[in-house]
Amino acid sequence: MRPSALFLLPVLVVAHDLHYNLHARQAPPSASLPSTSAASAAPTGSGSPTLSPPPTVPVTLQSTNPTAVPLSQITANETSQPTIALQSTFAAGSIPTGIPGAPPLPNAAALVPANYPPLDKTPPTDSPQVQQWIQQVASTGISIPNISVTTGAAACSANPAAAADTSRCWWTCGGCTRPSDITTCPDKLTWGLTYDDGPGFYTPNLLQYLDSQNLKTTFFVIGSRALGAPFTLQTEYMSGHQIGVHTWSHPPLTTMTNEQIIAELGWTKQVIKDITGLTPNTFRPPYGDIDDRVRAIALAMGLTPIIWTRLSPVATFDTGDFNINGGTISSSQVIVNFENIIANATTINTGFIVLEHDLFEQTVQLATGYILPEALAHNPAFSLKPVINCLNKPLSDAYVETNNNSTNPPPGGVSKSFPLFFRQRTNRLTCIYRLCGCDTLIGCFWLQPSHWIGGGEVRWNVDGWPPFGHDVYRVGHWHGRFNRWYCYRAVLRDLSLVICIPPY
Ligand SMILES: [Zn+2]
Repeated sequence: MRPSALFLLPVLVVAHDLHYNLHARQAPPSASLPSTSAASAAPTGSGSPTLSPPPTVPVTLQSTNPTAVPLSQITANETSQPTIALQSTFAAGSIPTGIPGAPPLPNAAALVPANYPPLDKTPPTDSPQVQQWIQQVASTGISIPNISVTTGAAACSANPAAAADTSRCWWTCGGCTRPSDITTCPDKLTWGLTYDDGPGFYTPNLLQYLDSQNLKTTFFVIGSRALGAPFTLQTEYMSGHQIGVHTWSHPPLTTMTNEQIIAELGWTKQVIKDITGLTPNTFRPPYGDIDDRVRAIALAMGLTPIIWTRLSPVATFDTGDFNINGGTISSSQVIVNFENIIANATTINTGFIVLEHDLFEQTVQLATGYILPEALAHNPAFSLKPVINCLNKPLSDAYVETNNNSTNPPPGGVSKSFPLFFRQRTNRLTCIYRLCGCDTLIGCFWLQPSHWIGGGEVRWNVDGWPPFGHDVYRVGHWHGRFNRWYCYRAVLRDLSLVICIPPY
């Protein structure tokens, strides 16, 4: 019998205000910022180029790359440049530097695409893998709020009731965040650099530029793209960039059922692990489309959301570069958006996270030709780094298998039931389930002699629970029987749990 969860996830019931006063410089009202308004945070890139080109606007820049493609040529209809080869590739078995404990690099050439879902579609939810992930989510005991699925492209205008329902904390409509969402870097002038939706054909150009400037970034990876470009993903990873989950097929997640969200995130985690050897513990919801239902599912899957900084409906740190390829914004307007972002960035007391994309040729041309050179020339200087580093954590903390759970406890001050290899003994003892940080009790369990905890460490953690002292030590797993109460903090998979074992 699986113990039931008695408490809701605290972060989901805490009222939340926007982190910022809206005193930062706003984008000029005349500047159309299609991708930064709340209403258009929904998908915009699916259309074909419009008949009339989007308006160009005057641009002033301190610095550009001498080899930059002229802005006037960075358009939806531009003639594609030849792609370049990756500057470096890595043999299977290579060990990444900078990630202590990382396993040898898998053999990407051995990937079998037939073992994965069809590209660019939400994966089926009836496969054995997805069914297993659904079970794992259920076994965490994390309560998934019963919030209705949004319709269409998750646009606020198409979902007025949901948009008006502040209790669901829907970022798309109003920018609501929870404390578990990462939306900024803590230190002023520190820039969490992020590129989404790749790996793309022109990602090697971006990697080359980043290398030339000794910059590292965070890539939020589409599972379908990773399967198509595994060597590019390996180079990103082995070069010291952070890899995060984006989804398998890039849907607005609030439009998906719980099972579909699990499939989208699960397959992306899986393919990244198969290619790099490690599983990311962060994800970015496409379009920033997240509510408390999506948050709870992601949490149960060990994924912390990272969005981008948003000061107000017209001052979000989205360059809008995604929409050049769709023909709905000019490259010069993206530059203006970017200039507004950095103007706002200098007015706030924290750092910030900016959204860019490496999927399209145009977005890479803008990044390498204009945005990054301008960022590097800025005075006062920005410190550009992957989000994990801007949070003052080591790169190894960005992955489930190498995260230091002591210094970077996984999110989970939450209610949990316990995995199936424990059986609750309710006939003799009153068992207590307590919500915890990472070091308080959640329950009482009877451990059969043949049972054991695999895949994680177990610590005695008896602090404050009579009649025990304060011993804390580790065992690899449990065997045997117990004749008194034992209290444990267990780190299983990526969840921190405390178990109390009753007499046996
Ligand atoms: Zn995206």
